[in-house]
Amino acid sequence: MLIIGSHVGYKKDTFLVGSVEEALSYGANTFMFYTGAPQNTIRSKIDLDNVKAAYKLMEDNGIDKNNVIVHAPYIINLANGDENKFNFSCNFLSEELKRVDTFGFKYLVLHPGSHVGCGVDVGISNIIKALNLVLDKDNSNVMILLETMAGKGSEIGKCFEEIKSIIDGVSKKDRIGVCIDTCHLNDAGYDLNNFNGVLESFDKIIGIENIKCIHINDSKNKIDSHKDRHENIGKGTIGLDTLMKIIDCDKLKDVPKILETPYIEGISPYKEEISLIRSLSKQ
Ligand code: FE
Ligand code: FE
Ligand code: ZN
Repeated sequence: MLIIGSHVGYKKDTFLVGSVEEALSYGANTFMFYTGAPQNTIRSKIDLDNVKAAYKLMEDNGIDKNNVIVHAPYIINLANGDENKFNFSCNFLSEELKRVDTFGFKYLVLHPGSHVGCGVDVGISNIIKALNLVLDKDNSNVMILLETMAGKGSEIGKCFEEIKSIIDGVSKKDRIGVCIDTCHLNDAGYDLNNFNGVLESFDKIIGIENIKCIHINDSKNKIDSHKDRHENIGKGTIGLDTLMKIIDCDKLKDVPKILETPYIEGISPYKEEISLIRSLSKQ
């Protein structure tokens, strides 16, 4: 069965129940959310009654909690060696893991980080140090999914080799997985017209079983542009046929697919995009 959903809100007052209701309004059977605004650190206490009600709603409507994804905020940057920023990022990531565990979800997507001038190698060693510090103190089963990035600015994670180097350095390997993002792969220079080839290369370098989430986005920019601007499904340079091949890829059929395409004139595109994908999917 196709497991498809989108990014949804997590708002004051309705919290997780509101997120589930939003996902259901799109005809989705999974979803992804931020536990607060992605660009700040204000996080409200989790209301366990609300979580319980959300679980009831999920169960009644066929949303499996094991397919729900939480996205860590962008302000976490584990690659930055500046002592204050590094400590802040580690602490925030620790708190975020606790929140995901309190919700009862399994996956936290994380951007590996930007080296902001210290270079890829130092950046990667900072990320490894941070992940080991954080995971050493954390006894939950929440898995951190490193997202493949477009390579904008000094972003780390623009190729499979960089992600592999990070994983190699982490002690608790069972706590690390990968989230691939189609827009980011395209913008990083991977030719998705040959998705089988891309997947083969991923499998050789990292291992395909490590892919736990896929962000399905078209791209506003051409291959290798290092831009990271998402486009609506079928409206960008990747195109509908290629995105459908990725969505229907048999080797990734149990992996949750999440749309992060842009709103169109303030209106969410997800209901239409999910129904388009469902109508074309062979699953
Ligand atoms: Fe992301
Ligand atoms: Fe993404
Ligand atoms: Zn992106």
